[in-house]
Amino acid sequence: MLRFDVIIIGSGLAGSTLALQLADRKKVGLLTKKSLLDGASNWAQGGIAAVLADDDSIAAHVQDTMIAGAGLCDETVTRFVVEHGKHAIDWLVDQGVPFTRDSASKTGFHLTREGGHSQRRIVHAADATGHAVQATLSDKIRAHPNITVLENHIAIDLITGAKLKLADNRCYGVYALDTQAGHVKTFAAAHTVLANGGAGKVYLYTTNPDVATGDGISMGWRAGCRVANMEFIQFHPTCLYHPHAKSFLITEAVRGEGGILKLPDGTRFMPQHDSRAELAPRDIVARAIDFEMKKRGLDCVYLDISHKPSDFIKEHFPTIHARCLELGIDITREAIPVVPAAHYTCGGVMTDLKGRTDIDNLYAVGEVAFTGLHGANRLASNSLLECLVFGQAAATDILQQPATSEITLPEWDESRVTDADEEIVISHNWDELRRFMWDYVGIVRTNKRLRRAQNRINLLHDEISEYYRNFRVSNDLIELRNLMLTADLIVRCAMLRRESRGLHYSRDYPEQLAEARNTVLEPGIKL
Ligand SMILES: Cc1cc2nc3c(=O)[nH]c(=O)nc-3n(C[C@H](O)[C@H](O)[C@H](O)COP(=O)(O)OP(=O)(O)OC[C@H]3O[C@@H](n4cnc5c(N)ncnc54)[C@H](O)[C@@H]3O)c2cc1C
Repeated sequence: MLRFDVIIIGSGLAGSTLALQLADRKKVGLLTKKSLLDGASNWAQGGIAAVLADDDSIAAHVQDTMIAGAGLCDETVTRFVVEHGKHAIDWLVDQGVPFTRDSASKTGFHLTREGGHSQRRIVHAADATGHAVQATLSDKIRAHPNITVLENHIAIDLITGAKLKLADNRCYGVYALDTQAGHVKTFAAAHTVLANGGAGKVYLYTTNPDVATGDGISMGWRAGCRVANMEFIQFHPTCLYHPHAKSFLITEAVRGEGGILKLPDGTRFMPQHDSRAELAPRDIVARAIDFEMKKRGLDCVYLDISHKPSDFIKEHFPTIHARCLELGIDITREAIPVVPAAHYTCGGVMTDLKGRTDIDNLYAVGEVAFTGLHGANRLASNSLLECLVFGQAAATDILQQPATSEITLPEWDESRVTDADEEIVISHNWDELRRFMWDYVGIVRTNKRLRRAQNRINLLHDEISEYYRNFRVSNDLIELRNLMLTADLIVRCAMLRRESRGLHYSRDYPEQLAEARNTVLEPGIKL
C-alpha cells in the first residue's frame, strides 16, 4: 500500500493546478493513465476566458455564460468562476506560461473574441494554448520534491467507507492498475481527487484524446456520488473524417472565412436549415450535418474553402492545410471530409463551490465535475477557466482540513480471476457501444432511439460485468466498463429530460419548458 496526503487522479489542467497548489504543504501522488501530457488540456487550442480589459466586466462575462447555458447555469457558481478569472491567469503567468502578448493593449495580453462572448476576453498562447500551459506546469510538477508522478497508472475504483463496511461516508483512497508492471496497487490518502476529464470516447467520433473514457464520472457514481446533466454533450460541427486521422478539429474559422458545407454531390445544404447558412451557431450547424448524414446514410459531408485563393488558405489555415496534405487532401483544390464530433461533457459528478462531492474527503475538479457553471451548453473557453478556479478552490479547502485518522486498506483481490480468454469481446463491445451511442444518442434524439440505446446498454452491461468479475483487469477492460456506465448515465439523463434545451435536442419534445431544471441522478437508483 502506498500512502500520500492527497491522491489526484488525472494530470490535465485541473489535476496539475491542484497538485502545484498543494505541494508546498502536502505529499501529493499524481496518478495519470498515460503520460503527464495526455489529456484534453494539452490539446486545447483557443484559450482561457477571463475579464481583463477595461471595457469588459464581470457582469458581461456572467451574462454571456448564462445565455449560452440556456437558463440552466447556476448564477452563484458562474459569478464565482468569473470573479476568479484574473487571479487564475495571474497564477499561470507566475508559473511562466508564455501567453501571446500585445504591447498596444493595456492588459499586456493579446485577447481574442470567440462565439458567444460579447467582448475580447480570451487569453491564449498562439493557437496552442493548452500545450503552452500544460508543458509549463508539467515541468514544475516533475521538479517538485513533494509530488510523486505515477504515469501509466489507471485508477479503477475508489475505496470508500461503504466498501470497507465502515459506518462513515468517507473516501480512503483508490485502486489503480500499473499498466507497465501489470498489477493493481492500493493508494491510501487523506483526500482523493477525481480530475479525470470528460467522456468524449463514448461516441464514435470525438475531438477528445483516447484517455477521455468517463472513468472519473463512473468511479464517482459507483462510489455513491450524485451525477447530473449528462445529456448535455457538446458536439463540434467539423472534425476531419479520415481513416488515419483521429480527432483532428477543423476550426470554425474555416466557415467564418467563407467555407461552404456540401453533400458528396457538391450540393450546398446549410441554407435549407438556417438563414445564416454556414455562419449559424455551432449547435445548429452540427444538427444540420447530422440530419443530412442520417437522412442520406452518409459517412461524412464536405467543407469546401477551395474557391478562395491558395495563398489566402495557406496563410490563414497553415496547420489544417499541412495536416490535410499529409493525408493526401489538398484543401486549396478540394473539399475537406468532415463529421461532427463529441467535444465536451457538460455534466458530471456533482460538487459544491469547493469541489467537494457527496462523499467526505473526495473532490472532483475539471471536466469530470458538474459544478453548475455550464448549464445546458458550455460557453467557449470557460472550461479551462473552470479547471483553474476549482483546482484552486479545492486546494484551499484541502489545506484547511484537520488531519484524518489513517487505516490500513485491503489489497486488491485477484484470487478469483484468471487471464482473459477472448480479448475480442472487449474490442467488439467497445466498437458497438460507440457506434450506437453515435447513432441513437447523438445530436438529435428521439424516445425510440434512446430506448434502442438503453436495450443495447442492458445487454452490454450483463456481458461486461460478467467479464469483469471473471478476468484480470486490463486498461481496455477498465475503460470499457466505464464507457458503458457513462453511456448509461447519458441515456438516463436524456430520457428524463422531456424538452429540448441547449445541447439536448429531442424530436419528440422540440419545445423548451418554462422551468429550467437540472437532471440529477441520485445514488442508489438501479441503472
Ligand atoms: C481539441 C480540444 C480543444 C479544446 N479547446 C479548448 C479551449 O480552447 N478552451 C477551453 O476552455 N477548453 C477547451 N477544450 C476543453 C478543455 O480542454 C477541457 O475541458 C479541459 O482541458 C479538461 O481538463 P481536465 O483537467 O478536467 O481533463 P483533461 O485535461 O482531459 O485530463 C484528464 C486527465 O485524467 C487522466 N485520467 C483519466 N482517467 C484516468 C484514470 N482512470 N486513471 C488515471 N488517470 C486518468 C488522463 O490521462 C488525463 O491526465 C478543448 C477540448 C478539446 C478536446
